[in-house]
Amino acid sequence: MSKFGLLINYEYCTGCHTCEVACQQEHSFDVGKCGIRVTEHVYAAEKKPVAVDYIPFPTELCDLCMKRYNQGELPACVKHCQSFCMSFGKINDLVEKMDQQKRSALFAP
Ligand code: SF4
Ligand code: SF4
Repeated sequence: MSKFGLLINYEYCTGCHTCEVACQQEHSFDVGKCGIRVTEHVYAAEKKPVAVDYIPFPTELCDLCMKRYNQGELPACVKHCQSFCMSFGKINDLVEKMDQQKRSALFAP
């Protein structure tokens, strides 16, 4: 397991798919392939007819943008997320940050 990972605070993910586009452009993946997929989850909720969560999942193609990391850059998806709901870092640091976020998911490819 990598010592680095991605923490996604899906409380604030808008489902805009910018992370997918940024990843696709960074890696020049073939059409239909990507290092991250935004999934939509619709469910019944109190006080409103339905609720929707958007949860981005890194795929097996995600390499955590280590080439960018080695150049002192953030992963493309993290840099371009306009909701600032994605974080990259060491797993231990992300676990601590996760404790302060109500609804988040940690990915360690
Ligand atoms: S770019 Fe950010 S807000 Fe947009 S879908 Fe991806 S994680 Fe969610
Ligand atoms: S970290 Fe890099 S490879 Fe992984 S999903 Fe984000 S942009 Fe794609």
